[in-house]
Amino acid sequence: MKNDHRSVTRRSSAPVSVSRPVSSPIHTSVVYRSTDADELDSQYEGRLKGYTYSREGHPNATIIAEKIDWLEGVKPEWGGGVVTGSGMAAVSTMLLGLLEKGDHIVAGDQLYGRSLRLMTDDLLRLGFEVDLADPTDAAAVKAAIRPETKLILVETVSNPTLRVADMAGIAAAAKAAGILLAVDNTFTTPRGWKPFENGADIVIHSLTKLLSGHSDSMLGYVAARDAAMNKALYDAAVTWGFTPSPFDCWLAERGIATFELRYDRAEATAARLADALGGMKGVKRVLYPGRADHPDHNRAGDLLKGRFGNMVSFTLDGGREVVNRFLRAAEHIPFAPTLGDVGTTLSHPASSSHRALAAERRAAIGIEEGFIRVSVGIEDPDQLIGEIEAAVAASRA
Ligand SMILES: *Cc1c(COP(=O)(O)O)cnc(C)c1O
Repeated sequence: MKNDHRSVTRRSSAPVSVSRPVSSPIHTSVVYRSTDADELDSQYEGRLKGYTYSREGHPNATIIAEKIDWLEGVKPEWGGGVVTGSGMAAVSTMLLGLLEKGDHIVAGDQLYGRSLRLMTDDLLRLGFEVDLADPTDAAAVKAAIRPETKLILVETVSNPTLRVADMAGIAAAAKAAGILLAVDNTFTTPRGWKPFENGADIVIHSLTKLLSGHSDSMLGYVAARDAAMNKALYDAAVTWGFTPSPFDCWLAERGIATFELRYDRAEATAARLADALGGMKGVKRVLYPGRADHPDHNRAGDLLKGRFGNMVSFTLDGGREVVNRFLRAAEHIPFAPTLGDVGTTLSHPASSSHRALAAERRAAIGIEEGFIRVSVGIEDPDQLIGEIEAAVAASRA
């Protein structure tokens, strides 16, 4: 059609091209038009495939969901996982999609800060019941299960102390009680450990972190080992409005393409950094599951089979002043409250993620003022380790 007055205000279709784009287009359209009411019926009734309204789905979200389904080993007969607007939206989708008022949850006592807050505050307000238990102690988790318990939520490796959950024991306890086991696999990623192959019923991710990997896209993911549960998760995400923007999904598609390479490189550097820190003056303690002095080293070996991840924590010998000198001296490594970025970042839990805890409670879980967490990125390992070594030395001056 030749351009006329209408063609300016009415949207055109993309110009025809027999050759197709190599990178995925971003589909920003909120709404999709149908030819007639019968076609729309066919779509809603599943005879034709298509999108209608972007809160209910769009191509960029489908692309990401299918990639993570594959990484996590979601079987086709389970349907597929749901991509959400953040990791917390994925946690909320699970709770609102699968649980009911009065249900009891057993949650790990060292969950991600906001997940913990959801458990100890917001959920109680909505009529759920929650008990926290130490996930490194399967007997404690089992003891917290009650007749009305519906779900256990744990993280494989805890933040920031990198304790490794007794996943085999917890999965056995969940199975014996006939309740759901949900695993937030953000820290460990499917490259480190696959929850569905080890008894989990639900897997959650913050894609914002390692999977997307560039600190420019905020997304989450949740999937269950069952088609009816996945349908309930999808409906909860659409109804409560937790679904993601096309642009974030598009960025995540670019990020996830290099996830495995980034993870392997960062993990190899993290192991080297942990050993280097172990020999540095001014470092009191190093926490890395691959080291023999880690409290869960044996379990980490059995569970993670050598995939010990990109996160390293250590304690500087000193208080706030030493910490500040260290952070300022490490001027090329951002001090920023995230993890999984392509570049290394530093965090200080006592002033950020764990600031709400009283100092004694922090100390009880091993987070002193001098505690630093490193999310190792993909830079040149020698240069990175050299920079951290120089900053530790400067912190003592
Ligand atoms: C960051 C994080 C979340 C929350 O994800 P957002 O994308 O920030 O909402 C949940 N769990 C873990 C383990 C995380 O690290």
